[in-house]
Amino acid sequence: MTSTTQAVETFDSLNPATDEVVGTYPVHTDDDVNTAVAKAREAFRWWASLGFAERAERLRRWKGIIARRLPELCAVVSAETGKPAGDAQLEVVLAVEHIEWAARNARRVLGPKRRSPGLLLANHAATVEYQPLGVVGVIGPWNYPVFTPLGSIGYALAAGNAVVFKPSEYTPGVGAWLVDAFAEAVPEHPVLQLVTGFGATGAALTRADVDKIAFTGSAATGRKIMAAAAERLTPVIIEAGGKDPLLVDADADLDAAADAAVWGAFSNAGQTCVGVERVYVHAAVYDEFVGKVTERARTVRPGEHYGPMTMRSQLEVVRRHIADALARGGRALLGGTDAVGDRYVRPTVLVEVPEDSEAVREETFGPTVVVMRVSDMDEAVEKANDSRYGLGATVFSRRRGMELARRLRTGMTSVNAPLSFAGIASLPFGGVGDSGFGRIHGPEGLREFARPKAVARQRFRVPLALTTFARSAKTDEFVGRLIATWHGRHGGRDKWNRR
Ligand code: NAD
Repeated sequence: MTSTTQAVETFDSLNPATDEVVGTYPVHTDDDVNTAVAKAREAFRWWASLGFAERAERLRRWKGIIARRLPELCAVVSAETGKPAGDAQLEVVLAVEHIEWAARNARRVLGPKRRSPGLLLANHAATVEYQPLGVVGVIGPWNYPVFTPLGSIGYALAAGNAVVFKPSEYTPGVGAWLVDAFAEAVPEHPVLQLVTGFGATGAALTRADVDKIAFTGSAATGRKIMAAAAERLTPVIIEAGGKDPLLVDADADLDAAADAAVWGAFSNAGQTCVGVERVYVHAAVYDEFVGKVTERARTVRPGEHYGPMTMRSQLEVVRRHIADALARGGRALLGGTDAVGDRYVRPTVLVEVPEDSEAVREETFGPTVVVMRVSDMDEAVEKANDSRYGLGATVFSRRRGMELARRLRTGMTSVNAPLSFAGIASLPFGGVGDSGFGRIHGPEGLREFARPKAVARQRFRVPLALTTFARSAKTDEFVGRLIATWHGRHGGRDKWNRR
């Protein structure tokens, strides 16, 4: 705990597979949060003063601890989310790559750069550099409790900010582990602090004296956060949910596409913001593709390939979406409403589901997938784009992969492989529409946690002074002619520009 005020109320973190208590954490109050933010403000001054190289070295120490104690961290992730050890390891490994990328590239992306001063101010040197914002509040979800918040935290720290992190109430132990590991690597000042609790603690962080809120979670909470942040004009990044489509073209490698659909839909029990929830398949290969998906999905076992639903309340949402799909004429080729148990959900493959049903329109966040036949890829693009969400997408096509990817209204698309954009540290990650805005990862993710600082420095005086009351009529006339000659060359002739 980072605050000097002792929080009285506590809450338990439970293992969703067994309901066993994994840990007990304080419910931090407004005062606790404000104290943490004030401390962060102090720590920020020191952290920012270190410069890129010193910060990178410390971020690498942190990365080293995470990498060396991988099994320990994975055990906490598995205990709090219920996901298999291999899946826990995958998200930690990707997160480590992101810390390294942010540390290595922060100076190149954010450091001072010269810009052209232009014709009229050619006597100036123009530079821009990206300075840290100050204190960033990071509010995280539970589904990828390492990978997701570190996409904000790693980049915010590399840019020179201090961070106060509020992990999900389902995964406070993972948050605590990451913050403790950071304190081991950087013992001098509390540059990364933890506050724990429910929505109210997150809301307190949103109202606190922070310079930015980086939120990952549902669109509904994102709306509340944005409204609360508006009070102080605090900028926000919203990384919200999705209803990601996968497109299968007539010339696609169907085995690879079916494999991607099954893994994309069912891994992590479908509790993936960029998980595959809808599949649009070219009519020429639809039957074959559906056969392959169903065959593969049959071999996926809950409890072995993926864990329980981390949030018990999600079971009802999944059941409702399946029931609605079936009631409206859809068919379950595998699974169905009885696939929804009291902890685990068996893989469910739905077909012939009307486009306006909940299973097609709402984020299901469970191990279900809807497969639809389309007459061509134009229809596939149109239907894929007909969603209020726009996070990720996947395209399987031998010839038209790039073209189709560009036409999809999503922040990210991977071609001929599932979800690969998330693992490429140099690529920005984020959505459009109800999936949110702002970007983590890559150069865009670094700039998200910095403000551009422009400096124009006069190198020498020129007789043609423009910004003074002493400017003469002659100067005005000269500038008028100069601009007409320079910019007027395009788009026709007139008395200033005769050829
Ligand atoms: P959630 O919105 O319920 O909670 C997310 C976090 O917000 C939690 O820490 C919670 O305590 C906090 N919170 C709740 N109410 C708050 C409030 N009023 N003010 C401030 N903070 C508040 O989401 P969740 O169930 O934890 O996560 C699942 C959702 O996250 C899904 O929709 C999923 O798609 C999305 N997600 C998105 C991404 C992405 O990168 N776009 C990644 C992972 C998950």
